Amino acid sequence: SIMPATLSAISNGARHGILIKGGVHLENLSHLGAIALDKTGTLTKGKPEVLEVVVREDLDKEEIIWGAASIESHSTHPLAQAIVKYAKDSIDKELFYPESLEDVPGWGVTAVIQGNQWKIGKAAFVGKEVADSFASGKAKELASKGSTLVYIAINGELCAIIALKDVVREETKAAINQLKKQGIHTIMLTGDSEKTAKAIAKESQVDEYFAECLPETKVEYVKQLKSKYNNVAMVGDGINDAPALATANVGIAMGGGTDVALETADIVLMKNDLARIAEAVNLSKRMNKII
Ligand code: ADP
Ligand code: MG
Repeated sequence: SIMPATLSAISNGARHGILIKGGVHLENLSHLGAIALDKTGTLTKGKPEVLEVVVREDLDKEEIIWGAASIESHSTHPLAQAIVKYAKDSIDKELFYPESLEDVPGWGVTAVIQGNQWKIGKAAFVGKEVADSFASGKAKELASKGSTLVYIAINGELCAIIALKDVVREETKAAINQLKKQGIHTIMLTGDSEKTAKAIAKESQVDEYFAECLPETKVEYVKQLKSKYNNVAMVGDGINDAPALATANVGIAMGGGTDVALETADIVLMKNDLARIAEAVNLSKRMNKII
């Protein structure tokens, strides 16, 4: 049977926008050693906007953006949606359906258009050497300011780089510092590049970060953190975070996240407010005292 103090803590949480799916999660929250947080959509708003498009000089900028947006319109990734919006706002042409298409979570998308092989995604997806074939100085500069870079290659040749900027949530810095004050070690996990990760980690004030994570790498890091810090929470919003949410002692999903994340999580932040995590920790400590 459920203890009155537990029940009271759960209903108290619900009133404050924290959905807790059972007393055991509050018990775990009360002695957290570390908390891992995803970047895109968790520390940041997850609504990136295109900041700049750098197209190779011999190519037609509009053609490239039109092709890229037609491919990305079949992906649900926030970066894909931003590229589609940018194209719709700047080009007066209907998007089309590529001959073939493949979404590769954590990497990007590939497609065939008129027999040409397109690849759109992170540097390692088009190949590091290909990614650095032009405008690499400019790309480094944009990434070190926190922009995410999406590379477009056609038949193995780099054609364009799109820089997108996602903003850190207003409450992130204060929420992270609150957790640190509670003695909890904070770590950012992201699939984004080292440079971009470094800039966002600094702005968010997390203790530590791991970049270039694949969904399975996030799981590995959570396992490592568990052996080091004993009791670990993971906060995320995407399909790619679900395995890590399930691996953590406490999985926390952003309310605005994808269904898989919401279903896998033990706790849901209904208003996407990171400050609620520290509140939930306090709630769990008070509950434990009563019990
Ligand atoms: P995060 O962990 O930050 O939420 P993801 O694991 O979803 O990031 O993606 C990692 C990287 O892969 C992105 O930063 C981007 O460079 C690339 N990527 C993934 N999906 C797409 C896509 N649909 N279009 C362009 N790039 C993508
Ligand atoms: Mg995310």
